[in-house]
Amino acid sequence: MAKVVCVLYPDPVAGYPPDYARDTIPTISRYPNGQTAPTPDGPLGFKPGELVGCVSGELGLRPYLERNGHELLVTSDKDGESSAFERHLPDADVVISQPFWPVYLTAERIARAKKLALVVTAGIGSDHVDLKAAAGHGITVAEVTYSNSISVAEHVVMMVLSLVRNYLPSHRYAVEGGWNIADCVARSYDVEGMHFGTVGAGRIGLAVLRRLAPFDLHLHYYDPHRLIPELETELKVTYHDSPESLVSVCDVVNLQMPLYPSTEHVFNDDMFARMKRGSYLVNTARAKLCDRDAVVRALESGRLAGYAGDVWFPQPAPADHPWRRMPFNGMTPHIAGTTLSAQARYAAGTLEILQAFFAGQPIRPEYLIVEGGKLAGTGARSYKLT
Ligand code: NDP
Repeated sequence: MAKVVCVLYPDPVAGYPPDYARDTIPTISRYPNGQTAPTPDGPLGFKPGELVGCVSGELGLRPYLERNGHELLVTSDKDGESSAFERHLPDADVVISQPFWPVYLTAERIARAKKLALVVTAGIGSDHVDLKAAAGHGITVAEVTYSNSISVAEHVVMMVLSLVRNYLPSHRYAVEGGWNIADCVARSYDVEGMHFGTVGAGRIGLAVLRRLAPFDLHLHYYDPHRLIPELETELKVTYHDSPESLVSVCDVVNLQMPLYPSTEHVFNDDMFARMKRGSYLVNTARAKLCDRDAVVRALESGRLAGYAGDVWFPQPAPADHPWRRMPFNGMTPHIAGTTLSAQARYAAGTLEILQAFFAGQPIRPEYLIVEGGKLAGTGARSYKLT
């Protein structure tokens, strides 16, 4: 019998379950690269479209785990020495958390987790886990690759349009009873003809390029690995050999690379100084790709005309986090990858990973980040330990 400790975000303040706006969600069985969506054995412990990412939703895992004699402990109490997570960590065999409400598995915590064998990210992005320490302790780390990539790409497109067209301030005028057209449009532009670049053109970055192409923007990208020539031609996208080169020509910049030690604070005062005055920056990847206070300075000086994203550090962000109140921000809490549509896929993927793990079967290589003491599968391509 294994002990599974699952850290999820709190329930809706109005109670669980919520009143759902729709009765069904579309079924996605394959992703754009041909990879199949999760295929767990047997029934799901939830109906797709239900809110399973919060504590009462339990990712729908309880029926499967209890049927097989395992113990499931679900909590949102994750930070601090007296947290429920800290109390249960020493005898946990499996830890599951989501990037939206991440359990920070530091080297110290990993050292205390003597039985820990598997860490699952229900979603994508395992930077909340000290991957080097996990590798050193022989812990397997897996995430549900592709489960919410398109969800995030849609969020990026929404943020690009809302920043450039000044949507959020204009909406505020409307709900507050105003009709201040001049105030609304004094910072409103068309994206048509602008230069848009993504730093990182993997699953999400590429999906963003595809979605923005019909808007007749000029497209640019930087990535350590170049896209195939046919794709560059199809999307009419220009390759840059450094982020510095890309930001110097773009009006809108999107960050979509993983966070690992050498990508931390790549967007700092120096990088902002290279951007055109009045650039927009969208970051749904990870907060620490940017120097927090440099972002605020760039907005205050006008170097940036707007910053939108849904990733913060730490999470949940404290009430006095400067990104909550900096000018021209279009921030949301970390929600891009946890729509009800995305939850159905990553909850099913988590179940698939647990089934493989408990059966002693291989976990799909596309889900693996660390295995056998080193980066593995997707992790070997996407992450670095330095
Ligand atoms: P992918 O691994 O498919 O794409 C990441 C891309 O970034 C890869 O093409 C990779 O290059 C590239 N890359 C790696 N290092 C660098 C670097 N130093 N500079 C520029 N590019 C680099 O991941 P996804 O597209 O699925 O996800 C990207 C990130 O988005 C995740 O790591 C996660 O942090 C975040 N995310 C956020 C979510 C949200 O809800 N806000 C949800 C899901 C993900 P290559 O592989 O070619 O070496």
